[in-house]
Amino acid sequence: MSGIDSLPPLREVIAEHGLSARKSLGQNFLLDLNLTAKIARSAGDLTGCDVLEIGPGPGGLTRGLLAMGARRVVAIEKDTRCLPALQQIAEAYPGRLEVISGDALEVDWAAHLNGPIRVCANLPYNVGTELLVRWLTPETWPPLWQSLTLMFQREVAERIVAAPGSKAYGRLALLAQWRAEARIVMDLPARAFTPPPKVNSAVVHVTALPEPRYPAPAEGLSKVVAAAFNQRRKMLRSSLKGYAPDIEAKLEEAGIDPTARAETVSLERFCALARVLARR
Ligand code: SAM
Repeated sequence: MSGIDSLPPLREVIAEHGLSARKSLGQNFLLDLNLTAKIARSAGDLTGCDVLEIGPGPGGLTRGLLAMGARRVVAIEKDTRCLPALQQIAEAYPGRLEVISGDALEVDWAAHLNGPIRVCANLPYNVGTELLVRWLTPETWPPLWQSLTLMFQREVAERIVAAPGSKAYGRLALLAQWRAEARIVMDLPARAFTPPPKVNSAVVHVTALPEPRYPAPAEGLSKVVAAAFNQRRKMLRSSLKGYAPDIEAKLEEAGIDPTARAETVSLERFCALARVLARR
């Protein structure tokens, strides 16, 4: 018995199914079910919710999410070696776990879930930021999800919750804070994972706001902020030179000093700039 369910301990599952960790798939597994239950709890009240999990691997967090009362878990896993282990969990929780074999960047997850939806994942680091940006930038708001509870490298987590003006402030913080609230809810040392990665990790909890703090086109904001912070030491009139021939005038129209650097510009001004650029 594992403690949170009647399934075998994860070390046995891994040995039985030959799940040696693959670096190319970002595989750093959580084998302590107390820890996975704690992460599942930090996702909020799961009862009555469908939960999207990316990269369930051998299923430690999946088991936590189901034990915490998720109505259904839809889990997308790229590594087909994990499917038999996940099938055992599906059998222990009849009708509550759907496993999709595929790449999370390509699967149309929304078609498999009913609201209210929460997302909870120990993400593969190679696709974590891309997925977060996609979840934060649908054109319409509120999004399909209520909250995101996601594992990141500690340094990436700091960039998501960074305060304006700080060194870590950039595209991730702006997008996360534009229409949501983000905070770090748990720190995990590298040794919590098997195999241990080189860096420490943290769980970030993101809650969707009912509406954006300032209006702006999502794709336009995401692109202009990416360009601005890509060359964060440069003045904005240089880093955004390719954006419009009259970028200085556009910056001024948005209330931004063209000689300013990206990290000194507020979210409100970046939203104004995205609106001005969208009028082109
Ligand atoms: N959730 C498990 C845990 O906590 O032990 C595994 C986490 S491990 C950090 C990341 C998982 O994501 C692996 O199982 C890996 O195979 C899977 N993965 C990697 N790239 C993926 C992708 N593009 N789409 C879906 N799953 C992916």
